[in-house]
Amino acid sequence: MNLLPFKNLPAHKPRAFVPEKIDLGDWPQIAPLFDQLERRAAEATSADALELWLLDWSELNAALDEEASRRYIAMTCHTDNADAEKAYLHFVENVDPQLKPRQFALEKIYVAHPQGEKLPKARFQVFDRDVKNHVELFRKENVALETGEAKLSQQYQKLIGAQTVTFRGEEKTLVEMGRYLEEPDRALRQEVWELVARRRLQDVDKCEEIFEQLIKLRQQIAKNAGFDNYRDYAFRQKCRFDYTPENCVQFHDAVAKEIVPAVSEIQNGRRRQLKLEKLRPWDLAVDPQNRAALKPFVEVGEMVSRTQKIFNHLDAELAANFRQMQDLKLLDLDNRKGKAPGGYQSTLNEARVPFIFMNAVGLQRDVETLLHEAGHAFHAQATRDEDLYAYRGAPIEFCEVASMSMELLGNEFLEEFYSTPEANRARKTHLEGIIGFFPWMATVDAFQHWIYTHAGHTRAERKAGAFVAPAASHFHPSVLLRRIWHRAARRVAGVGEFKGGQGEGAGRLQKIAGSRRLAAAAGTVCGGGLQVSIRCRDDQAVDSTGGFRIEEALGSVLI
Ligand SMILES: [Zn+2]
Repeated sequence: MNLLPFKNLPAHKPRAFVPEKIDLGDWPQIAPLFDQLERRAAEATSADALELWLLDWSELNAALDEEASRRYIAMTCHTDNADAEKAYLHFVENVDPQLKPRQFALEKIYVAHPQGEKLPKARFQVFDRDVKNHVELFRKENVALETGEAKLSQQYQKLIGAQTVTFRGEEKTLVEMGRYLEEPDRALRQEVWELVARRRLQDVDKCEEIFEQLIKLRQQIAKNAGFDNYRDYAFRQKCRFDYTPENCVQFHDAVAKEIVPAVSEIQNGRRRQLKLEKLRPWDLAVDPQNRAALKPFVEVGEMVSRTQKIFNHLDAELAANFRQMQDLKLLDLDNRKGKAPGGYQSTLNEARVPFIFMNAVGLQRDVETLLHEAGHAFHAQATRDEDLYAYRGAPIEFCEVASMSMELLGNEFLEEFYSTPEANRARKTHLEGIIGFFPWMATVDAFQHWIYTHAGHTRAERKAGAFVAPAASHFHPSVLLRRIWHRAARRVAGVGEFKGGQGEGAGRLQKIAGSRRLAAAAGTVCGGGLQVSIRCRDDQAVDSTGGFRIEEALGSVLI
């Protein structure tokens, strides 16, 4: 059974160093290449020779990265397939841990190399800085802990990928159920919302366990590397030289002050339009004028061909890029049982082509997600001619510039999916979603800081809501719930890239607790820390400003 949607992809450049025939899942075949590189570094007696050596190392990294990505893609496309799981875990358990000390050895050699200074500064200073940083952070004893992290992440994928409900006699994935939350029939929405929340709650203990094991592992990783907490470690590990945790707190406060009032206004308008006394969690996705949900497409093929037309309007190069992805079958877009949740873009680094994964069910949100992931994909395609492997990736913060911009650029041509009034409605929903995203992001981020700077907190403390994240009390829970639901269809940024610091995401999980309205929240982070489940409970019945009451909500969130 072929577990990948695409066939063999030719390398962007023919291999010059890695043998054509090699099993990149078999460490004994890989190790001699590292031996050779170590030996050859000593022989590099000019800057040119050192640069050639770097390119060979890049070629090897790209080939290994592609191998890891293929296994990750196969696993996430088939979380219920034992072979896919085995192949992925084999790489995680048997190749990656061997690889890390060998990469470290090469990095150390490079940092101390006498020819290093002669390399052109303008080209290599970012690379040099990152390699030096990595060398400083590397600890042999962390290798096994990182393997543990990857395995926990895979367990989480499997757990969430298996969640379904029986609705009107049919088995449905939770993502599929999302479409009913856009239905004008309020009783139906409530039924669906509760059904899904109950299903998620069934796995809450398993999620908590994974979450707690991850926190423990990460605390130890940070400690081993000489840091007080994992947050500070993660900032360094992700090469965040341009902003600090303190800047994040300022950002949270700014969002609370400037954005939250706008979101409250939008939500109040929604409540009035819906003629409701109180908005409930199942009232947040329906059209405020109670019109039927937008139905941009039925079949995924239709979504793809219409999105192609959007890019045709936008730019010839982008259009050609998206066409290439279709021709090479680099898309797995439909939602089905056994697929991991969310969406992501991964790069097949030797072929230097992107792959998009998502769970489309026929919503406007799917159109936004495809535009978003295509933005990431175009970013990857734009670096295709860069030969230094490390320079074909970007930090997560900048990756989102490409993707979120593409959502906005593409939205200009939504008439490919809709009549003009419908397209305008979709644009409004989209823009409101972007405004709503800020408090969600800030809250999740604040929770994450809290989690990692409150080492040793217990599950009971977390669930009791004993801790208040900075500015959390300003964030409206409605915002959280909306995002919790909506972000389920988002991307896991860069997971599957085996090389650290390439945007795999370091536990950006936040817990919101202690807010006036959120009496309890419990979270789960996995998948490089990107997936979050948050449970909220509010026994306080009503909020006087917006009229929200949150009972129990549990959602999977991808950020
Ligand atoms: Zn993204």
